[in-house]
Amino acid sequence: MKSNPIRYPASRPHLAGREREYVLEALESGWISGAGPFVERFEAHVSRFLDLEGGVAVCSGTAALHLALLACGAGPGDDVATPAFTFVACPNAVRMCGARPVFADCCPLTWNMTAATIEQALTPRTRGVMLVHLFGLPADVTEIRELCTSRGLWLLEDCAQAMGAAFDGRRVGGFGAASAFSFYGNKVISTGEGGMTFVQDPEARRRVRLLRNQGLDPQRHHWHPLAGFNYRMTNLSAAVGCGQMEQIAFHVDERHRIARRYSRNFAELAGSGRVSLPVEVPGRERVTWLYGIVLERGGSAAADLIRTRALERYGIQTRPFYIPMHRLPMYAEDIHLPGAEHLGDHGIVLPTYSGLGDGAVDEISGAMESLVREVMD
Ligand SMILES: *Cc1c(COP(=O)(O)O)cnc(C)c1O
Repeated sequence: MKSNPIRYPASRPHLAGREREYVLEALESGWISGAGPFVERFEAHVSRFLDLEGGVAVCSGTAALHLALLACGAGPGDDVATPAFTFVACPNAVRMCGARPVFADCCPLTWNMTAATIEQALTPRTRGVMLVHLFGLPADVTEIRELCTSRGLWLLEDCAQAMGAAFDGRRVGGFGAASAFSFYGNKVISTGEGGMTFVQDPEARRRVRLLRNQGLDPQRHHWHPLAGFNYRMTNLSAAVGCGQMEQIAFHVDERHRIARRYSRNFAELAGSGRVSLPVEVPGRERVTWLYGIVLERGGSAAADLIRTRALERYGIQTRPFYIPMHRLPMYAEDIHLPGAEHLGDHGIVLPTYSGLGDGAVDEISGAMESLVREVMD
């Protein structure tokens, strides 16, 4: 069958604020590299929104994670607990520090690690936990912080998918020693490529600032007391970010609206046990990064078939969930993590982005519902 052109992409950035104006301003000012007024403005805006001190803007979420790990002290000989069900940047960043990722399973309902699954993954060399608030639902920070405290582990939050989500009324990003955000094109807000690191300890934060810029001492030309990186965010990217941050409430609300509508539309499918939907947990305010459904019957081929037909028949682009990290060649391990494996085999991500109208959500829901019934029944 001939493919429709994509009518609904899985994700797209929404750049309808002052992004264009700010980028032009940056271009005309000549400040196009990793220095310039928009970088500091963007850092200040994000920090204020999250109610955190001193965000450090960098060129990607992966760079933000790497610096956050270094701020926590991760290094050779250390094991760091990370989810098996996550984006590959998590273990990659651990490896960039010379440390080793050890994989924890996730709760099949919340998709997040829990204190129990982390505990199962701990080794004698585990020094810290990289907690990912997956798909925008905050993990149970209370029990995980208690575990970390009792075991003498540091806690790092990967908030790449959770900008604006809150736990007990506090936005995520300030619950551990450090945190990292991503502003890739499909995240809640975007700078094209970009990220931001937050560090609690002021001295470690200063170090991270130097590491971003080749370890350069800002007070003295060509004096590099640390071996750093070029992880600077460009003024052009930050200009986009400033435009996005002016509309952050809109972006967060849009994702709530879309998620609520999908969940309402899928209530019957979920009630019949065919699929499970993203859950709501009291005390945790999610920001739906991407909306996903999980098939609860049938083998892993069912999700692929539904995804193929969604694109061919309806022009709906979807994505599979993550292949668990322990099934990738460079992290291959002969372990069985049923939560991560179930999600990886049965999850389907649906189009989720600011500006996706109610009519579109209804149309996508209807198409997905008929495909799920067709393939599963
Ligand atoms: C997107 C993402 C990252 C990495 O961000 P980049 O900006 O693409 O480098 C890290 N962790 C998680 C969980 C992500 O979703």
